[in-house]
Amino acid sequence: MRLKLVAAPVLLALALAACNKKQKAQTIGEGSTPAGAASAAPGAGSPPPTVAAITAPTPPAKVAVDQTAQVIVYGYHRFVNQVRRPDTEITPQMFEQQMQELKNRGITVIGMQDFLAWKRGEKNIPPRCAIITFDDGWKSQYDVAWPIMKKFGYPFTLFIYTEGVRGGHFGGGEATTWEQLAEMRDAGVDIQAHSETHQDLRKPYDKVAKKKLSPPEYEQWLQNEVGRCKETLEQRLGIKVNCFAVPYGFYNQHIKDVAKGVGYEAVFTVYGQPITFRSTLDSLGRYLIEGNKPKVFVDAISMIATSSGGGAPVAAIGSSNIASKPADSGESFRLWRNRSRQCNDAGEWVRRCPSVL
Ligand SMILES: [Zn+2]
Repeated sequence: MRLKLVAAPVLLALALAACNKKQKAQTIGEGSTPAGAASAAPGAGSPPPTVAAITAPTPPAKVAVDQTAQVIVYGYHRFVNQVRRPDTEITPQMFEQQMQELKNRGITVIGMQDFLAWKRGEKNIPPRCAIITFDDGWKSQYDVAWPIMKKFGYPFTLFIYTEGVRGGHFGGGEATTWEQLAEMRDAGVDIQAHSETHQDLRKPYDKVAKKKLSPPEYEQWLQNEVGRCKETLEQRLGIKVNCFAVPYGFYNQHIKDVAKGVGYEAVFTVYGQPITFRSTLDSLGRYLIEGNKPKVFVDAISMIATSSGGGAPVAAIGSSNIASKPADSGESFRLWRNRSRQCNDAGEWVRRCPSVL
């Protein structure tokens, strides 16, 4: 009996400590104080706060995470047997080989939420990790890529633009349906936002409405593309959306500010680079994998395989091979569109031709 009496307070203390680990998610920007960290106002009957409690609030309990771990993020679009647009298409065979390659090289594929938990200092991850993302909601992601991912037991993230889902303005026969998204959600697939209509968010021109936007109109439009997109996904799928991938990788500070304002925790671009514990969450680079440039895939792996960790340099690899930097991607986009006669109409381009980025 004596033992039980001693054990009870200990267990209670442990339970309270565990609760403290559940802190509110940070929004974009590292180093900010998590909400709730400040001491709460004392309730009636509670002891007055000590000086120490006011001047130096105890930070939320965190697990000891490996700050030298590194992560690479891959982005894919369509999976087809015959590649006609190598910028955005890849065969199922090559994709499967790449997934196998990760296993062979000891790279652990982790889920987006585990990655974010690591960035918050709440959860550890293996030393070398990859995140797999699929953009734009193509049906082949459901039909072709998902079974392959299941085979490997890999988690992944979908970046969806809401008007590109079947039935939406751009949601044609090759688009995924809301039902398929719900099915994937139920299976644990992470679903995140990629705008409403997949346009260059820096420009005050709505290609769907074919309308030049006044400054107030632009702000409202941007709010819809970044914020309403999130709300739509959350409401239709009953999920929490905390990541945003900027269409084509085009962004500026204002777009990042809007993303932060509507509650995104992380923003993804296409500037492929190893991500470290210190990488800022408002512009995380991804390696876009193209069917005719498999070297980008292995080069990305070698960036984290050979680095000593911690302050890894930004990858030079990829920037010359793929449309990576926003400036580069603009040029790549123009060259690519000029090559493809189907894509002259800007409004229809997203539907018929997969977005490059
Ligand atoms: Zn896209």
